[in-house]
Amino acid sequence: MYRQVHSGNKAGAAIVIMNKNIPVLSLEQFKTEYTVAVSIGTREQAIIVVSSYFKYSLPTNDFIEQLRPILDREVNTIVGADVNGHSTLWHSSESNERGRQVENLVEDYLLHIMNVEGTLNTYDRPGIGSSNIDVTLITRGMIGQVTNWSVTDATDSDHRVISFEAIMARPCPEPGNTRYRTDKADWAKMTAHLASHVGDIDERTVDSHANGLVMLLKAAADLSIPRTRTAGRSPGRQPWWSPELTALKKLLERSRRLGQRDNEPETYRAHRNRYLAEIRKAKMATWRALAGDLNVNPWGKAFRWAKRKGAPPSTVQGNLRRADGSYTESVEQTAELLLRAFVPDETNGGSFNHHGPLDDGVESPSASEVKASIWRIKPSKAPGLDGLTAKIVRKAWPVIETTLTRLYGAALRESYFPLSWRRANVIVIPKGGDKDPATTGAYRPISLLPVLGKALETFLIKKIENETSLNRIGEQHGFVQDKSTITAINTLYNWVHEAKSRHVMGTFLDITGAFDNVSWSPLLNQMVNIGASPSTTRMTESYLGNRWAQIKLESKMYEKKMERGCPQGSQLGPTLWKVAMSELLALPQESNVKIIAYADDIALLVGAARHDTVVARTESYLDKIKKWAVTYNLSFSPTKTQVMSIKGGVKPGYQVRFGTDEAAPRITAAGTVRYLGVILDPREGYWNHVESLAEKSKSLYSRLRTLASANGGISQLTSRTLYKGVFLPRVTYASEIWAPGVKLKKSIKKLGSMQRPPLLAMTAAYRTASTNCLSVVAGVLPLDLEVVKSALQKRLKRGEITLDQFKDHETEIFTEWQERYESTDKGEWTKTMIPSVRERYMLPMPLDHYTTQMLTGHGDFKSKLFKFKLVASPNCGCRGGSETVQHVLYRCPRTENYRKELIATMASEQEGWPPSNGAFLKTRKTYEALRKFARQSLKNRSDR
Ligand SMILES: [Zn+2]
Repeated sequence: MYRQVHSGNKAGAAIVIMNKNIPVLSLEQFKTEYTVAVSIGTREQAIIVVSSYFKYSLPTNDFIEQLRPILDREVNTIVGADVNGHSTLWHSSESNERGRQVENLVEDYLLHIMNVEGTLNTYDRPGIGSSNIDVTLITRGMIGQVTNWSVTDATDSDHRVISFEAIMARPCPEPGNTRYRTDKADWAKMTAHLASHVGDIDERTVDSHANGLVMLLKAAADLSIPRTRTAGRSPGRQPWWSPELTALKKLLERSRRLGQRDNEPETYRAHRNRYLAEIRKAKMATWRALAGDLNVNPWGKAFRWAKRKGAPPSTVQGNLRRADGSYTESVEQTAELLLRAFVPDETNGGSFNHHGPLDDGVESPSASEVKASIWRIKPSKAPGLDGLTAKIVRKAWPVIETTLTRLYGAALRESYFPLSWRRANVIVIPKGGDKDPATTGAYRPISLLPVLGKALETFLIKKIENETSLNRIGEQHGFVQDKSTITAINTLYNWVHEAKSRHVMGTFLDITGAFDNVSWSPLLNQMVNIGASPSTTRMTESYLGNRWAQIKLESKMYEKKMERGCPQGSQLGPTLWKVAMSELLALPQESNVKIIAYADDIALLVGAARHDTVVARTESYLDKIKKWAVTYNLSFSPTKTQVMSIKGGVKPGYQVRFGTDEAAPRITAAGTVRYLGVILDPREGYWNHVESLAEKSKSLYSRLRTLASANGGISQLTSRTLYKGVFLPRVTYASEIWAPGVKLKKSIKKLGSMQRPPLLAMTAAYRTASTNCLSVVAGVLPLDLEVVKSALQKRLKRGEITLDQFKDHETEIFTEWQERYESTDKGEWTKTMIPSVRERYMLPMPLDHYTTQMLTGHGDFKSKLFKFKLVASPNCGCRGGSETVQHVLYRCPRTENYRKELIATMASEQEGWPPSNGAFLKTRKTYEALRKFARQSLKNRSDR
C-alpha cells in the first residue's frame, strides 16, 4: 500500500511514497496547503524531500518564506516546486519578477538547479502555452547524488513528469507482522504436529514450560496455517479498478505516445473520455455494491463505513511536537515520545515489601476451568506478539489440555507469571476528530497481549476478588456485576432525595489518564490491607514486574519497560484499578457526605444546612481525595472537574477551591454537569441532555443519507433496522434516568425534529409531509414516547414493575399518541387512511415511495406541486380538475383500470367503495392492493 503526505482535501502539494520499505517521517511543522516535506531514511542518513506549489494568485514570496525554515535545517534536501515563474537559471528564455524572487532563494542557500537545458518544457497545455516553471532544487550536499534528471510526457497532466535518481544508503527493512489466516488452516495437520511433539516440552520451570508450549504452537501453526502480511493491496489499485481499465489506460498512453494529443485531438479525446467514463462507471458500481451490501447486511461493511466517516486515511506517521514545543526529528524519536506518553515512568518513590512465605494451600485449576478461561476470549480477537489467536488455541486444546493445565497450576502455585506473556504489542491508532495530529494526545494506544497470558489472568482475578470482597467496598459501580452507569446515577439521586440537608453540592472529578498512571507499590500494599493472600499479592507483583510494551513504526520495533499503570488490553487491569479505588471509597464518610465511583469517574456529594458549609466541607474532602491521588501518583484535572448545586437552589457561578489550600485552583460551579453520559441539571428537567442528543444524532443520519443518495440507495427496511438498532439505542441510553424529563414541550419538539430524518428514510416520503403523520405511516412511536417506553421496558426487565403495570403504561402511551395525532390540524388525509395509531403500530406494513404518497397525500400530485410553485397549474391532465390524492384514488379516468382492480379486491374482503376510513389496513390483501394501485398510478407517468 502506498503512503501519502498532503494537507487536507484541498491540498496544493503532495508526496506519495510507493515503496513501503522506506522509513518516512512527515515534517508536520512545515506542512501548509501548498508545501509538504518529509524526511526519508534514518537519523544518520536522512534527506528531506519537499513538494511545493507556488499558486499563481498568491505572492511568490509567501512560498519562498515557507521553504526557508526547511532549508535552514541544513539537511540534504531536494525541492520539487511549481514556481510559476521564469528564469534563465532554469532555461527560460528570460527571467520575470516571480523568477527573480526564486533566484534570490537559490543564491541565499547556494542551491543547485537540476533542470537540464534542451529538454521538453515542463508545462504544456495545448492552446494555452508551453514553458519551464517546474524546478528541481537540491542543497549542495546532494550534488553528485542526484542524477538522470529528465522530463517525459508520460501522463495526461498539463505538467509533464520530471524524474531523477537520488542515491542514499538503502535501509534494511525488517519483516512485517504476520497473521495466521485461520480460515485457510489445516487443523488436522496442526494437531498431528502438536501431538507428536507435545511430550518434548521442557516443563522444568514455568518460563521454560510457557516458552516451549508457545514455540510448539507457533511451529505447528506455521506448518498448517498460511500467513498473511498485514500490508494491504498493491500500490495504486483502488477497490474499483478492473482489467478493462488497465486496457483503456494502455490505449490512452499509446495514443499519447503517438502524438495524437496534438495531431489528432479528436481521437485522443475519444480515448480519454472512454477511459474517464469507465472509471466513473466502475466507481459507481462499487458504490452501488456498497449500498446493496447495506440492504442485505445492515451491520456490514457499509455500515462500518458510515460510522467511521469514510475510509481511514493512509498517511505517513508524522513527526510529533514535544511538550516544550520542539519537534521529533526521526522515526526513533517519534517512537520514543509515543512510548513515553503511553508507558509513563514511575516517579513515586514508594515501595512494596510484604513478602511472606508462599502458602502451600494454593489449589491447581482443573482442566475444565482452564478450558473455560480460554473459551472466554473471542476466537478472532487480535492476537499478541506470538500471533496465536484464541481460535488456534481452541483447536489445539485437545492435544495441549494436560500440559497447559499443568502450566497454569505451576504458575499459580509458584505465584509466577510467565515472562513472555508480559510483553504487549502496542498499536497506535489516530483518534481523529479535531485533535492536533502533531501531539501524542491525538493517538490511542491499543495493547495486544498473548491469549494464553490473558486466560491465566482470569485465575488471578478470581483469587483477588474472592479474597478481598473487592466489589463490596464502597460505591464502586464500574466493572461490577449487576452494577452500571445507571445504578451509579440512581444512587446519586436517591442519596440527594433522601438527604436531610437543605443544600447538596456535587463535585465530579476527572483523573488524568487514571489507568495508565496508577502506581504499583501502593496498589500492592492496598491489596494486602484488604485481605489478599501472600501468594495472590506475589503473583500480581510478578505479573506487573518486568513488563514491556513494544511499538512498531516504519517497520522497526521500539520498546519500553512498564513502571506503572494497569496494563491496557489486559483482563486484570480493571480489577487492579478497583483495588486502588477501594482505598478512596473506604475513607470514613460523615452521614452528609457520599462518594460514588464508576471506574475512574468520581462523584463527591456533600450536604449541609448552609451553602458556605457545603463549600467548606467539599474543600476539606477534596484534600482527602487529593491525598489519595498523591499516594497513587495520580492527578486531577481541575479544569475538567465540574461542580453543581444539586439541591438548595444556589445560582451557578460561585467558586469552589480544589482543596483547603489558599493557592488551590478554583472551580466555577455550573448549571449542568455531564456525568456518565447524561447531562444532569438540578431541576431534573434534562433539557440540556435532549439538546446534546440532538446535536450528536445529526452526523450519523447525514452520513447514511450520503449512502442513500447513491443509485439504489438504502431500502426503507434497512433504514428501519438502522433506526431500531443504532439510532434508538443511542438516544434512549439511560432513558430510565431522564425519561421523566421528556414531558417538557420543548423537549418533545426537539426530539420530534431529531426523529424526522430517520422517519423520512423509513417512509421514503416527500419532505412536505409532517412529522406527526410520518411517525404514524412509519409505525414508530414519536421519539419522546419511545424514550418513555424504553424506560418502562428497562424497569420491567429489572423487575421494578410487573408485566401488567407495563401494559397499562403502554396503553397510556398509545392514548397519548392517538390524541396528539388527532389534535393537530396537519395530515387530515393520513387520518382517514390510518385512523388508529395503535392498529398501525401492530401491523407490519412494507413501505415504498409510492404507497407513502398515497398514505400521506404528499407527493407527485399537481395540486401539491402547484402549491410549491413547481408547476404552472394544479389541474390534472385528464381535465377533471385539481390533481389531488383523492382525485387519483377516486376519480381520475386515467387510473380507471387500476381502480377497478382495487375495488374488486376490496369487495372480496367485504369492503365497499368509496372505502371506509382505515379500510386499506384491514387485511394484508387490501393493503397489498393499495400498494399495487399506488405503484401503477404514480410510477412512470406519461405527463411527467
Ligand atoms: Zn385526472
